[in-house]
Amino acid sequence: MISVQGVSKQFGDYVALDDVSLEIRDGSLTALLGPSGSGKSTLLRIIGGLETPDSGRIVIHGDDATNVPPQKREIGFVFQHYAAFKHMTVRDNVAFGLTIRRQPKEKVAERVDELLKIVGLAGYQKRYPSQLSGGQRQRMALARALAVEPRVLLLDEPFGALDAKVRTELREWLRRLHDEVHVTTLLVTHDQEEAMSIADDIAVMDNARIEQVGHPRELYDNPSNPFVMGFLGEVS
Ligand code: ADP
Ligand code: MG
Repeated sequence: MISVQGVSKQFGDYVALDDVSLEIRDGSLTALLGPSGSGKSTLLRIIGGLETPDSGRIVIHGDDATNVPPQKREIGFVFQHYAAFKHMTVRDNVAFGLTIRRQPKEKVAERVDELLKIVGLAGYQKRYPSQLSGGQRQRMALARALAVEPRVLLLDEPFGALDAKVRTELREWLRRLHDEVHVTTLLVTHDQEEAMSIADDIAVMDNARIEQVGHPRELYDNPSNPFVMGFLGEVS
């Protein structure tokens, strides 16, 4: 479980997170849903260790991780604009995290095969990122993030730059992937439909605070305030 405990963060005078607490269930696919500027990415980056909170704690699987550097948190990241190594093949991109950890070659090859099969890119090992579609590139990014067997997967609007049709496909695909690998996943999105259709739990954010947390159905049926009701009712 990931536990966010009373986390606050300011940038200058601007309050990006105001005393935020959140429990993310082990093995869940949790969506952090809210409008642009509500603080979602800041919270994700603090959970991932890319940013330090001004106050509060991040506890990951019982250990205080607040001051643990990102590379020691066993976390995989995928961002909206994925920075693939352009000069490396799909295979080498996915293998990267394993190669720098000096895993034996055969083991790396086996793991890359397995991962590319999971993300539906089995035949793409020798291609370069420029030869993939946007959707394929994000699937490669997920394979790369999963390669080192992270305990937590942090996805910041991973499908945000794709067109609506591909976005819907990838959203369903992510759900199936999650059902297969069960890694605790936090998905940042401003897309209500995306969150409602695939998340186990949704945390709704607005204005540096978490407004409500619950199962999609619960939030829809019993929104705790007018913001949640209005936001969930919007169709993007
Ligand atoms: P969201 O992901 O929900 O759109 P963010 O967490 O990115 O929101 O940002 C919340 C607010 O904090 C935004 O108004 C943004 O301008 C501000 N902010 C985020 N990161 C920084 C930073 N490094 N320096 C200054 N302001 C920032
Ligand atoms: Mg953001």
